[in-house]
Amino acid sequence: MSKFYFFFGTMGAGKSAYAINKAYEFRERNLEVLLALPKSLDVKFIDSRSGLRLDAVPLPENIPSTVDILIVDEAQFLSKEEVIHIRNFCTNGRSAFCYGLRTDFQGNIFEGAKYIFALADSIREIPSMCKICRKKSIFNFRNSDNKNTICLDKNIYEPLCFDCFYRKQKDLFK
Ligand SMILES: [Zn+2]
Repeated sequence: MSKFYFFFGTMGAGKSAYAINKAYEFRERNLEVLLALPKSLDVKFIDSRSGLRLDAVPLPENIPSTVDILIVDEAQFLSKEEVIHIRNFCTNGRSAFCYGLRTDFQGNIFEGAKYIFALADSIREIPSMCKICRKKSIFNFRNSDNKNTICLDKNIYEPLCFDCFYRKQKDLFK
C-alpha cells in the first residue's frame, strides 16, 4: 500500500537516526530504498548524532521505477514542487518517509513542512524533551546571531518547550 509519511520533531529528537534505521529495515527486506535530501542543500549524506551515517542524493527529478521506498531527511527544506513530486511518487505500492522540522528558530513553519502537512497521509511526532525543563519540546531556539534560515550546525540549537522558548523570544509573539 502506498503511503506518504511525515515524521517531525525538534532538533536532537533523533529524526536522522530514524531515517537511517528505516533504510536498513527496508533494505533487509530486499526493497530498493532511495535516500534523498532537498536539492537546496549541498549535502551528500545523512548522519545522526548517534554516529550512524548513510550516503544520500539530491532528490532526483526522475526517480528510477525500481525504487520502492523513498526516504528524505531535512524535509523542511523541500520546495513545494519537491513535495508534490514526492506525493506523486507514492503510487503502485511505493511509499515515502520524510523526516524534518516543523518550525524554524523563529517559530515560523518551514515551506517544506507546510506542504507536507497538507499532502501527507500520515503525520507523526517524534517527541523529545525541552533542554531546560524537560517538558516536551516544540521549538528550536538558535543560540547564535546567525539569521540565515538554513544553518545546519546542529550544535547551536536548543530544543525548548513553548514556555522556555517564550521566555527567550517574547518579541516573536507580540
Ligand atoms: Zn521548557
